[in-house]
Amino acid sequence: MNFFNSPIHSWYSLYKRDLPWRRTRNPYLVWLSEIILQQTRIEQGLSYYIRFTEEFPTISDLAMASEDQILKIWQGLGYYSRARNLHFTARFIHEHYQGKFPEDYQSILALKGIGEYTASAIASIAFNLEYPALDGNIYRLLSRYFGISEPIDTGAGKKLFYNLAKELIIGTDPGMHNQALMEFGALQCTPKNPDCRSCPLNESCYAFSTKRISELPVKQNKTLQRDRYFNYLVLIGNNNTWMRKRVGDDVWRNLYEFPLIETKDEISIDKLLEQKDFQEIIRSELSVIGDISTWRIHLLSHQRIHYRFIRIRLPNEINVPDNLIRVNKEDIFNFAVPKLLETYLNENGLDVLSDRNTGSQH
Ligand code: SF4
Repeated sequence: MNFFNSPIHSWYSLYKRDLPWRRTRNPYLVWLSEIILQQTRIEQGLSYYIRFTEEFPTISDLAMASEDQILKIWQGLGYYSRARNLHFTARFIHEHYQGKFPEDYQSILALKGIGEYTASAIASIAFNLEYPALDGNIYRLLSRYFGISEPIDTGAGKKLFYNLAKELIIGTDPGMHNQALMEFGALQCTPKNPDCRSCPLNESCYAFSTKRISELPVKQNKTLQRDRYFNYLVLIGNNNTWMRKRVGDDVWRNLYEFPLIETKDEISIDKLLEQKDFQEIIRSELSVIGDISTWRIHLLSHQRIHYRFIRIRLPNEINVPDNLIRVNKEDIFNFAVPKLLETYLNENGLDVLSDRNTGSQH
């Protein structure tokens, strides 16, 4: 398979991006980088990686941290289950492996939050084991170069690509090889408009010679997106607001948020005021509705969140439900919150939590 591997390995030594996790074979740091970079662009993940390695230089430092501390540093990256699993697994390794990362593939795969791709990446980069790590970049590259039209998201397709990738990795430096293929897919064989003219594989690439680049790779299932509608109530009283910790099995579990009413669609404010959920939170007739933001959309992998913020001034604090935590407005940035709340606070500043802009009485 040298006709394929050699040009990519040479290309990688010339053009790879200089990134901190490429300068180490420490399994903890490789794992950390892989988890941060899942569903995250490198430019965005880099600062998080640096922050995590500064705050928690070893796996045991991460294990000893509190979940609130970890979620706060993770804030803005999204997919918060990654941070919670990171913490769980750090504790597990600290307790069961005396802080030393397990060195065989099956033990790595058994760790919470680590799937086949991540286990292969760690096994190959940190321990030189010949496990192919297939990410979206590698699927695309293999599909185009070898002309494979089997869908990449079916069991049969995954097996076919895995077997091919396994053949390719034999006899290489597996960590370098996996990273070279990923980087080549990310920078050279890009999803749209790949630079085929300068590609070292163009003379033997199936997709290039048959002009089928835009058709490959093939995907069978398009992700179904669910629409949800969130009405955040920004309660205000004497420079305080009220938040709650999100519970339940949810991407934002254990993050803090304003009390929230989920509705079936973008309902009017009058309809919202009639809702039982609303009246359970806003119990006083003397509460005053202030600004109402326009609806916006926040995209998650399987959900489209339509959301808005409704400022409400409370006449007194006595009537606030017990599950809400009173937060002085100056302290709000100490709480780990979902990205859409962070954006709202950054755009509007702390002023949005002051007793200004009163509107109609509820
Ligand atoms: S020639 Fe084009 S499609 Fe083929 S591997 Fe190179 S960049 Fe990808």
